[in-house]
Amino acid sequence: MKPPAFDYVCARSLDEAIDALGRRPGEAKILAGGQSLTPMLNFRLAHPGMLVDINRIPGIDAIRDDDGGVRIGTLARHRAIEVSDSIRKKFPILTAAAAHVGHLAIRNRGTFGGSIAHADPAAEWPMLALLLDAQIEAKGPQGARTIPAREFFTTFLTTALGDAEILTEVKLPALPAKTGWGFEELSRRPGDFALAAVAAIVTLDGKTIKDARISMGGVGGTPLRAPGAEALLRGKPADAALFEQAGKKAAEESDPSNDVHATADYRRHLVSVLTRRALTSAAEKAAQG
Ligand SMILES: Cc1cc2nc3c(=O)[nH]c(=O)nc-3n(C[C@H](O)[C@H](O)[C@H](O)COP(=O)(O)OP(=O)(O)OC[C@H]3O[C@@H](n4cnc5c(N)ncnc54)[C@H](O)[C@@H]3O)c2cc1C
Repeated sequence: MKPPAFDYVCARSLDEAIDALGRRPGEAKILAGGQSLTPMLNFRLAHPGMLVDINRIPGIDAIRDDDGGVRIGTLARHRAIEVSDSIRKKFPILTAAAAHVGHLAIRNRGTFGGSIAHADPAAEWPMLALLLDAQIEAKGPQGARTIPAREFFTTFLTTALGDAEILTEVKLPALPAKTGWGFEELSRRPGDFALAAVAAIVTLDGKTIKDARISMGGVGGTPLRAPGAEALLRGKPADAALFEQAGKKAAEESDPSNDVHATADYRRHLVSVLTRRALTSAAEKAAQG
């Protein structure tokens, strides 16, 4: 199908985009990479009266080093993240996960900020923003504000962003020394959204787990952390039996539903297995680092 008719604004600055959004509150939508919005328009699942194109705004696609961490501009394409040396060095979990974001053509157009703002619970960037305690920066008519990832994803495809607010940049704070990562997902075909995905980071103090974080995708209305499983791991020696136990706990903390692709029970089983694998891989890397 063809998209419904809409007015089009090509913004040249963030202020111009915010101004345009503010003129049609609730009716105007930002157009970033268009890899989620355009299919929704074509399927007539969205009927915005106006699209505000942010692709011509200079400087909002930068990936910058920041205090040991990185700042990713909203318009950074998935592919730019996949090939960034800085990301590979500081957050190799993003490099690994990028390969799971759709296909190359989608990664060439789709944007980091667009994916986070779209907030698909099975998408890789939202679950990694949650895992990495990202600080999400937004700008709107009332000025700029920073929203912690934990407060950003409110419900299915819905975020804390206001109608005229633009996600401008995402800050990923530096990870502590002796931290390793694991990323596991299962999808029916390469490039499909995950039936379930789990990302984990483990920080070791000798053989003891000093800290652990687990984030799950595709198994709830939003990406989810697994606080019970994380608590179970802290202060204990890293071993296979513990990771098995944490996997079962994470599965209990997931909230999947049945759909045409998989049953909720199968997705819960996946969480248990993928969590165990992600933790094992994270602990191995932490021990080496
Ligand atoms: C066949 C196919 C397979 C895919 N597979 C995957 C996959 O496996 N994993 C995955 O993660 N994604 C997948 N995607 C989605 C893809 O990653 C999209 O690029 C991403 O979800 C949205 O980014 P975008 O830049 O294309 O946003 P757009 O489609 O332009 O916008 C998406 C939504 O976010 C809003 N928005 C965009 N930017 C901003 C901003 N800066 N501030 C506020 N709101 C904003 C828009 O108004 C819109 O509502 C797939 C897409 C396709 C077509």
